[in-house]
Amino acid sequence: MSRVIGIDLGTTNSCVSVVEAGRPVIIPNENGGRTTPSVVSFTREGERLVGDAALRQAVVNSARTVRSVKRRMGTDWRFSVDGRSWSPQEISAMILQKLKKDAESFLGGPVTEAVITVPAYFNDIQRQATKDAGRIAGLNVLRIINEPTSAALAYGLDNGAQQKVMVFDLGGGTFDVSVIEIGGGVIEVLATNGDNHLGGDDFDEVVTGELCALIRSQHRFDPRRDPAALQRVRDAAEQAKKELSTSERAYISLPYLTAVRGEPVNFEHTLTRTRFNELTRHLIERTAGPVRNALADAGISASQLGRVILVGGSTRIPAVQDMVRELTGREPSKSINPDECVAQGAAAQGANLSGGALTLSGGAAARPGGGSGLLLLDVTPLSLSVETVGGVATRLVERNSTLPVHYSKIFSTAAPYQSDVEINVLQGERPMARDNKSIGRFRLGGIRRAPAGVPQIEVTFDIDANGILKVTARDLDTRQEQSITISGSERMSESEIDAAIRDAQRYAAQDGTRRSLLEANGEAERALSEARRILEKGKRKLSREDKKALKADISALEKLMASEKPDRMGESDIMRIREAARRLNDTAGRCAPMAE
Ligand code: AMP
Repeated sequence: MSRVIGIDLGTTNSCVSVVEAGRPVIIPNENGGRTTPSVVSFTREGERLVGDAALRQAVVNSARTVRSVKRRMGTDWRFSVDGRSWSPQEISAMILQKLKKDAESFLGGPVTEAVITVPAYFNDIQRQATKDAGRIAGLNVLRIINEPTSAALAYGLDNGAQQKVMVFDLGGGTFDVSVIEIGGGVIEVLATNGDNHLGGDDFDEVVTGELCALIRSQHRFDPRRDPAALQRVRDAAEQAKKELSTSERAYISLPYLTAVRGEPVNFEHTLTRTRFNELTRHLIERTAGPVRNALADAGISASQLGRVILVGGSTRIPAVQDMVRELTGREPSKSINPDECVAQGAAAQGANLSGGALTLSGGAAARPGGGSGLLLLDVTPLSLSVETVGGVATRLVERNSTLPVHYSKIFSTAAPYQSDVEINVLQGERPMARDNKSIGRFRLGGIRRAPAGVPQIEVTFDIDANGILKVTARDLDTRQEQSITISGSERMSESEIDAAIRDAQRYAAQDGTRRSLLEANGEAERALSEARRILEKGKRKLSREDKKALKADISALEKLMASEKPDRMGESDIMRIREAARRLNDTAGRCAPMAE
């Protein structure tokens, strides 16, 4: 089995890790960054940019750039550009492909297997969409694991003493809090809670608002009306926020923001931590409810927590850490970089699944024999029901049930001589079916004619360790059965996934060809400029034959380059350019000593 990578596919940033010599290490991207922006951009020239490159030109190309696609996972949202429309799975797959490629460069060989993490709040459809994204990117996704579970693995807590742990994860766009019971090789998620729309972006927005108001009052210029200026203010706001995690003051300088009546607008300001705390207090307070709810759902008080782990870049904010201390009465653990913790845990789990031995931080020793030692017990994030008479949601699986789950219940028919039943599978906490989310529907037919209430239909819910749900309905009389692995309308069909995989492969090949063409053009340009220089320098000294040969080779290469049609060029066309450049280089090399 090749090396399994662990991927934290984040809303704002993603991170990838692999176990090397028994320890999870972070795989840097091609720019040396330890996390990669989860941003995809489509340039007007038909190039697809992912990560830092996409983020850099997100302002000038905002309509062709996708950010925070994770928020769209499991929905039927599409991103349309250049006459094509992309699903969230396909956009996520582009990010995954980039992470896979960076991992391949780092490891020096193909990478085909991964463990990917998702927020504990993700429902079944969102989990399946993430798995599909992995498949489209050419990855065999061995496991989808919850981010808090992964963080606990990174701390190696699974092998220590039995204890209850809170994982407090405040990233760029989401907040998750989980209570986990851990120790002796078992991790059980007791409860999860959070806020899908709370994260560092909100802090940036509040600071941006403050800076915009100051700029407006000082300069009568509203940056919100100028996208490029607004982006600069946003970047400065995020930078200041990060500085305030370690300093009491952050100096903001935005020269030449714009010109008002010919005069440049230069903005300078010092933001103090005290003011930042005032501005963002309401955001920090929003973490309290989910923390209390998670503790209540787990049936424990804060004093029963053995440990609190901080995850996500925004937990570096001192006021966030103060809030955690206040709510839990514990000094939070932050020895592992909070941006990298989740990916490290996923890598650890990946190594575990492939049988690699591990040495994790937190003092855990290498697990003898690796593989089978660890049992992961996650929970269902929401309750699961089926719709019964009168539009009632009859619950089969309670929220926060430990995975894997296997649960059956017997139902019957509501009308006399009813020959088929419709099973409407629901996810949510509300008593009426219509208030929950319908995540799948199917029919079981061929029921023997009988008065209402006589046929016995057994409905079984099976949820595997990845949180993927299979529902089966069986007529106990005829033994007929029907099942679905949830196929809600938002979920991609098998054929759609296959088409997307083919597409991704085709684009990967096209991207490769485009890169070769750029390189070949670079070589050709260099050869042409050198040959022209020699021709110019050797005007008088070069023999007529040499001049003729040089001119002929220059013109042949120029013609080839002029006839380029990037979208239709294959490897053989690129080879021809390379050969012509080489020939020109040879001729120029022969002539150079005479010309000098
Ligand atoms: P993550 O999704 O975990 O990568 O977290 C990204 C979020 O963390 C972004 O909103 C960042 O601005 C924020 N972040 C990163 N470093 C810091 C820091 N030193 N102080 C405050 N926020 C930070």
